[in-house]
Amino acid sequence: MTYPNTQLFIAGVWRDASDGKTIAVFNPATGKEIGRVAHAGIADLDLALAAAQKGFESWRDMPAIERARIMRKAAGLMRERAGAIAALLTQEQGKPLVEAKGEAMAAADIIDWFADEGQRVYGRLVPSRGNLAMRQMVLKDPVGPVAAFTPWNFPINQVVRKMAAALAAGCSMIVKAAEETPAAPAELIRAFADAGAPVGVLGLVYGDPAEISNYLIPHPVIRKITFTGSTPVGKQLAALAGKHMKRVTMELGGHAPVIVAEDADVALAVKAAGAAKFRNAGQVCISPTRFLVHESIAKEFTAAMVTYSQTLKVGDGAVEGTQMGPLANPRRVTAMAEFTQDAIKHGATVAHGGARIGDAGNFWQPTVLADVPLHAKVFNDEPFGPMAAIRSFNTLEDAISEANRLPFGLAGYAFTRSLKNADLLTRRMEVGMLWINMPAMPSAEMPFGGIKDSGYGSEGGPEAMEAYLNTRAVAVMNV
Ligand code: NAD
Repeated sequence: MTYPNTQLFIAGVWRDASDGKTIAVFNPATGKEIGRVAHAGIADLDLALAAAQKGFESWRDMPAIERARIMRKAAGLMRERAGAIAALLTQEQGKPLVEAKGEAMAAADIIDWFADEGQRVYGRLVPSRGNLAMRQMVLKDPVGPVAAFTPWNFPINQVVRKMAAALAAGCSMIVKAAEETPAAPAELIRAFADAGAPVGVLGLVYGDPAEISNYLIPHPVIRKITFTGSTPVGKQLAALAGKHMKRVTMELGGHAPVIVAEDADVALAVKAAGAAKFRNAGQVCISPTRFLVHESIAKEFTAAMVTYSQTLKVGDGAVEGTQMGPLANPRRVTAMAEFTQDAIKHGATVAHGGARIGDAGNFWQPTVLADVPLHAKVFNDEPFGPMAAIRSFNTLEDAISEANRLPFGLAGYAFTRSLKNADLLTRRMEVGMLWINMPAMPSAEMPFGGIKDSGYGSEGGPEAMEAYLNTRAVAVMNV
């Protein structure tokens, strides 16, 4: 599929920016420009805001069952178009086609689940304390138009988790998706438009992220902010939202610990954590990053991770059989080089990889670092790339303390055959999502989100709906 230029979607119309401004989009496998995306100005944002207000009023008043019909139709279109959408996603983001198609199909699944959940937004009747003629009601209403800011690592998934819940709750949404990966999220919006979402229910803009967030967050039309991205940017946006008393969901960075206990099934740990580590070239907020392995099995585990990394087929995601594509942008290649140099300087060993591949595109070798000291950068800052940093521990308590040392608390993994260990890990690990003896398996019906500096709010399960609902108390005296 030839790669298109991406337009803004405002008031039900695909359009260029009012001043005609555009931004270049590059293929990370080649480094070459493949298209342009429209760069919205303030005039475009004003149009999008007015449309979002109108769209909210019509969508809010539509019965939930009707909204669900439109959402399910959009899910069906995503399934039908998944192959074509995947081709766009791979060109702009780099991930292998199979992962890109999986992302489009998962979006359909998420939409379906929230379409159903939206029909189960119940209030309740609360018995009155005295006069039985008084009816006390608890009502759940949509918060209103939402501004969503999403990143480039899962250009469809990060939007759909927000959008499906918001739409199911009866909200409208303006999405500011990532300028580096604009075409795939545009196809998600197109599926909803083609499925019959009323004008203004969805808007899509691109441009200068700071300019757009600084304009949309304080704007009186916007009632709720949702952001996925780095912790520093999340803190800035949450502060701005706080200043203007806007509801907020923040899905921020992590630095996921993987504790491999003395009694772990090492082969299972390597298979599960290895696959999770190199998926999307490690550019995943729940990617396993800090491998804490019991000293008695650290050598065996490291050797197995090296073997696993050596077998990965790295290349252009568009080529059949590729298992790991390039990094999504040149910034990540620079970051990988810095993490590697810093780890070596602090005494770590490069057990595998540690270098750029070729000079075209943003390819980096799957990298395994062994004996990494705690003060190395990679054990403190999220690498967000194909890098497994390993160090050993002596007692499980020490490993848990190390896992909890950082301010982040998004995902965590552990491998152990002991129920007692599993119980201790479950109680003590300070993470929003924990997977024991298995790879990460997020699903629409389970909460998805972090604690501590990894943010607040959830993007899965009934909790995700709550984020888009106001709770109101109404009492009526029957006179
Ligand atoms: P960044 O911090 O500059 O940007 C992260 C995302 O936030 C991008 O999509 C960007 O467009 C957006 N953004 C930046 N400033 C913004 C603003 N003022 N208003 C609204 N949106 C804004 O970094 P980056 O180089 O794009 O990514 C690097 C780091 O970001 C990674 O190391 C990782 O920690 C984090 N990240 C996390 C996720 C995630 O899924 N949680 C996704 C992408 C990036």
